[in-house]
Amino acid sequence: MKQIAYPVNEVFETIQGEGGYTGVPAIFVRLQGCPVGCSWCDTKHTWPLDDDAKIDVVDLLAEQGETECWSEMTSKQLLKLFAEQGYTAKHVVITGGEPCVYNLSDLTSTLFSHGYDCQIETSGTFEVLADDKTWVTVSPKVAMKGGYDVLASALLRANEIKHPVAKQSHIDELDALLAPISASGQLSGKTICLQPISQKPRATELAVKTCIARNWRLSIQTHKYLGIE
Ligand code: SF4
Repeated sequence: MKQIAYPVNEVFETIQGEGGYTGVPAIFVRLQGCPVGCSWCDTKHTWPLDDDAKIDVVDLLAEQGETECWSEMTSKQLLKLFAEQGYTAKHVVITGGEPCVYNLSDLTSTLFSHGYDCQIETSGTFEVLADDKTWVTVSPKVAMKGGYDVLASALLRANEIKHPVAKQSHIDELDALLAPISASGQLSGKTICLQPISQKPRATELAVKTCIARNWRLSIQTHKYLGIE
């Protein structure tokens, strides 16, 4: 398979803080570039993919804090970097930005063949191109200013659908989004998580109440409580 070079914004090892893999040691690979335009996005520095922000890996690793800079790296170069950094986690989370603007088949297949497992975190607005074994977390972003629709194919590919919630209309929005695949029985086997936005008490109360009523899961951004990345 052809080696694709991916625009990498950040690589770090931590604990997965949210969703079904909460608590699992993980290597995060953050790809640069996102056209979706969520107003509350907390990684806006990953939106542009400017040629003049392309730098060497050594310089990227030396960056402090959020940066719009990125380095081009192939799957093999990422594996080498994991080894050089002494990472021990075996779970790799590919995030962004919006990672699914890129074909992730090469990256995920290479990682699986080297003993890692893979998770993709995506908005669901691009087709998911990845190894079949990849755990896909879709956090659907509806009616964002980039003008992209959440794709039925992404929802069908999802292993987990994780929705941020602040008010009832967010749950109604999720219900509307899931209605077609729910009606055709294709929702079964998927994990549905509600995630209170910004740890706000009212959002948490609503999410807890709805999760109990629907037998869904609550996703807490534990990394924010722990103060880790
Ligand atoms: Fe931010 Fe993700 Fe929305 Fe892109 S899809 S704007 S990275 S929250």
